Formats: sequence, C-alpha cells, structure tokens
Amino acid sequence: MNSLALQEGTIVLDPFAVRIILGLVTLALIVISCVTSQRKRTPYADWWRAALFLFFVGNAAFLLNSTPFQWWANPVGKSLVVAGAFCVWAGARTLRDRQAALWQLLPGPVLAGAASILDDPASSVWSGGVAYLAMTTAGISFAAIELWFTQSARSRITKFLSIMAGLTAAYYLMRTLTYILYGAESWLFRTYFGYAPAALIHLMLLVAVSSTMNTLSNRQLIRRLRERADRDHLTGLLNRGAFLDLAARELARSSQGRGAALILADLDNFKAVNDEHGHSAGDAALRAFAEASSAAVRSTDLIGRYGGEEFILFLPGASQQRAEAIASDISNRLAAMEGTDGLPFPTVSYGVTSTGTGDPDLAFMINVADAALYSAKAQGRNRVVGADPLDAESAEDRATP
Ligand code: GH3
Ligand code: MG
Ligand code: MG
Repeated sequence: MNSLALQEGTIVLDPFAVRIILGLVTLALIVISCVTSQRKRTPYADWWRAALFLFFVGNAAFLLNSTPFQWWANPVGKSLVVAGAFCVWAGARTLRDRQAALWQLLPGPVLAGAASILDDPASSVWSGGVAYLAMTTAGISFAAIELWFTQSARSRITKFLSIMAGLTAAYYLMRTLTYILYGAESWLFRTYFGYAPAALIHLMLLVAVSSTMNTLSNRQLIRRLRERADRDHLTGLLNRGAFLDLAARELARSSQGRGAALILADLDNFKAVNDEHGHSAGDAALRAFAEASSAAVRSTDLIGRYGGEEFILFLPGASQQRAEAIASDISNRLAAMEGTDGLPFPTVSYGVTSTGTGDPDLAFMINVADAALYSAKAQGRNRVVGADPLDAESAEDRATP
C-alpha cells in the first residue's frame, strides 16, 4: 500500500500509514516527556502524559478495525481518545490552579463509548460517530478556553497553545458537521475530514503541546516552590519576609488615597501554654489564631506570622476604627473555639495603627503598632490598643531633630 495515492487529482493519505506514524510519534513524545522530567512531577505534566497515553492506546485500538475484534476495539478506541481530549483540558486547568472532577471528566468518554456500542460497532468503524466527534470537539474546545484565560497577557506560550487547540477544535467542529450533513462516505468528508487528515491535525497539536510542556511544567513547579517558601509551615500564613514585601507593595498602592491599617497581635502568656500543656498545645493555639484571623478579614488582606507567637495584619482600605473592630472580632472568634481536651485558647493583645496624612511608611507603622501592643500588655493584656496615626506622626515630628 502506498502512503500517498493520487486520486481524482487530490492527494489522499493512506490511513494505515498515517495511523502508524501518529502512533510512533505519540510513543516518542511519551518517552521524551518521561525522560526529560523524571524528577519534577507536576499536575500539568501528569495530565499531559495521561493524554498522550490515552491517545496512543486509543489509536492502537483503531488498528483492530476490520478484524474480528472491531466490535469491542472500536468503542474502546473512541472512548479513550475522547478521554485523552478531556485530559488535555484537565491539564490546562491546572495552569490556573483548578482541578477537574471525575464527574466532569467521565461523561464524554462514556457517552462516546456507549453511542458506539449501541450503533453496531462490529460492522461500522463510524459507529456512534456523532457522539465521538462532538465529545472530542468539546474536550479540545474546553482546553482552548482554559488556556486562553491562563495568566492573562503575560504568557505567550499559553496563548499560542490556546490558538492551536482552538484551531483543532474548529477543525473537529467542521468534521462533526460534515459527518452529520454528508456522512462518512462522502467525498468531502473523506478528503478533508477522514481519519488521515484528522490525524495530521492531531499530530500538530501533540507536537505543539509537547514542545512547550517542559517550560509550562517548570513554571508550575517554580510557582509552587515560591508559594511554599512564602508561607509559614505551621500556620500556612505568610512568613515575615513575604509579608513585608507584599505589605510594602500594597502600602505604596494604597497611598494613592485609600489608606490602610496595620495590626500587631501577640498571644498572652503563651509560654505558660507550652510549659503547662506541652508544645503541641502551643502549636494548636497558633493554628487557631491563624484560622480565626483568616475568617475575620477579607481575602485581599495580608496576614503574616511575624515571630514565634506574634502576628501581623495589613488591611488595605481599612480605617483605624474598622481595624480595631477586626482585632476584637478575631478575639471573639478565638474565644468561641475549643482546643484539644476542651482547653481554651490563650487571649490576645493587639496594637493597631493606620495611615495618617503624610507619606505612609511600613517600618514606621510597625513601630507605632508595636508601641501600642506594648501598652496593651502593660494595661493587663487581652485588649486592643489603637495608636492614633496623627498623634503618632506628631510624636515622630517631635522625635526627629
Ligand atoms: P506575653 O503575654 O508577655 O506575650 O508573654 P508570652 O509568654 O506570650 O511571651 P514570651 O515571649 O515570654 O514567650 C513566647 C513563647 O512562644 C516562647 C516560645 O517558646 C514560644 N514559641 C515560639 N514559637 C513557637 C512555636 O512555633 N510553637 C510553640 N508551641 N511555641 C512557640
Ligand atoms: Mg506573647
Ligand atoms: Mg511575643
């Protein structure tokens, strides 16, 4: 059999030869992907490898067409290829830190397989063709959309991939429509949308995604490592360095009118918790504070673990009054929670300040809040002490020569 045959002046590719080429290239891509990213597994790479594997096995099943095994191999092949398309979508989703649920992944492949089984797969290789084509179109379209919204304008790679997936999806849509309107035996379908031309488009998408796989996978890895490095292991809150960086950036932004507030919090007599109930009871109290404070603020506010049992909050756009109310709210929430063995959590003292009229400065705000916190401790603990920013500024004016 020739791989290229001239027919009615049109080049018609031999499906068997194309199928073998697609299979070998897919296998090579699987091996390359495993060899080059052995030690850095990321969700994106895992989903992409799963997709390649499903495409490979699915297409291998199609090799059993026109054999006595066609009745089961054909529905299985269709189901696996659709599953592969949905894995591409699931992988694209991880680039936006989203997960795909099983109920989202399964219906497409199940529908494609079931439609084929119910449509006499023993005698027709196009049994359940509409469901197969429509579901593949759906999986790749979802991937294109997901990629388009990944990391917005910054990533040219994901935009490129989105366009490649979009073109493939458009091709599959045309393929579906031509199949519905003219049937699989029509000249139009066989010439432009038959197995061989479709496999070439498939190949293009596989190579495009595979060639960018390492870059995107590394990016995902770096983002995860950075996220981990910025967080305190015990509480999951920002660590001191990450908090100071982010708060300084936010403060510069909120200096254009909105203002901001800062809270320093210190657990009361915390050493006694450790001494009397053990270190793990102390750790539980630190985690409880993290939970209570996260529940009391908005998602755009910053919370950091400043030191051992000292925490710091930065609230963009919040007034002095609002910040003091939030501090009380955290204490109320903590009082309503119960530690292991029914132990109450320690109380908390707070120093609160907010931006005044002048140019705000983070280090200065922290100093002011720290003085207020000291005063809260001196007044008997378990209270919120606010430092009026205007007073604080005039105090600094007096202090600077
Ligand atoms: P005050 O009311 O004046 O703040 O008294 P305090 O006992 O809370 O303050 P002090 O600074 O004397 O003690 C803080 C304790 O916090 C000492 C240290 O062992 C403990 N600590 C620091 N980090 C951790 C941690 O990660 N886990 C636990 N369990 N304890 C910690
Ligand atoms: Mg303390
Ligand atoms: Mg302390």
